Amino acid sequence: RKVCLIAGGVGGAKMAEGLAAHDDVALSVIGNVADDDSFHGLWVSPDIDTLTYSLAGRIDRAQGWGVADEGHRALETLKLFGADTWMSLGDRDFGLHIHRTMRRARGDRPSDIARDVARAFGVRPAILLPTDDVVQTRMRTTDGRWLRFQEYFVRERCAPEIREIAFTGLDMARPTPEALAAIAAADLIVIAPSNPLVSIAPILGVPGIGDALRAATARKVAVSPFIDGRVVKGPADRMMAALGLRADALGVARRYRTLVDRLVIDHADAALSAEIAAEGPTPHCSDIMMQTQADKARLAREIIDLAFAPA
Ligand code: GDP
Ligand code: CA
Repeated sequence: RKVCLIAGGVGGAKMAEGLAAHDDVALSVIGNVADDDSFHGLWVSPDIDTLTYSLAGRIDRAQGWGVADEGHRALETLKLFGADTWMSLGDRDFGLHIHRTMRRARGDRPSDIARDVARAFGVRPAILLPTDDVVQTRMRTTDGRWLRFQEYFVRERCAPEIREIAFTGLDMARPTPEALAAIAAADLIVIAPSNPLVSIAPILGVPGIGDALRAATARKVAVSPFIDGRVVKGPADRMMAALGLRADALGVARRYRTLVDRLVIDHADAALSAEIAAEGPTPHCSDIMMQTQADKARLAREIIDLAFAPA
């Protein structure tokens, strides 16, 4: 079966690993490029790299991002020269950023670079970009500053209260033919349990991508990043609340109500089922915490069975 996953970083990569564990699934993953930024002259694409490293089995499993068996000597050298080193970039990781930057400077399509990188790491699923154009998340804080995404997320550890989120370049971005084709061809489209506001929104906001998703004939299932009214990690709860949205599985159902037929929520949130159903998506309760590889594969299997079960 052709499965297309819309995914951010850590939550997205866990879902991707689960789907990739099944031989009857031909998986393509559309990742988020809006966290991308330039560091030390190099183009860094954190969410795409988290997908690649996870699916390659090279991810640092303890922290969920970055490369396993990593060193930080390049960063120490940069620090010696007075560079800002709050963005933790490992030595092995630097090699990829150097390669990506060199190819971008040569004019290669970012999608082709991502494909070749994944292939070199032995990744079987297709890792697709929603756009080859530069789209970047910006956050306005309650103290009036506009922060780049990594300044907010890494340098300031998500401490500032958010008033507004913007995506520079999004209105003018063109979708990639690969992403449009994967959405149109899919039997099943899954929206991963990723941050709805800064991981999923800048993918679906690329002109043409959201419409393609709505027009697609595939079964469509989203998985909640909220469990028992809390996020597993990250700032999605505080961001949703700051923007006046409900920070729970019901808030997710409202965001995705025109996009998916089903929403997979945790057993702990079963009490929200009736309200979720009233929004549109049919709720399905499961154990949606993914810690082990077995958890990821089991949840993925359940989603596939759910999507293709006779109504
Ligand atoms: P990021 O780009 O690395 O921030 O990652 P994503 O946007 O893909 O995912 C972040 C979201 O993943 C957070 O809101 C978490 O609550 C959610 N998340 C992380 N692990 C799990 C999990 O095991 N199960 C579920 N349901 N959500 C998870
Ligand atoms: Ca991210």
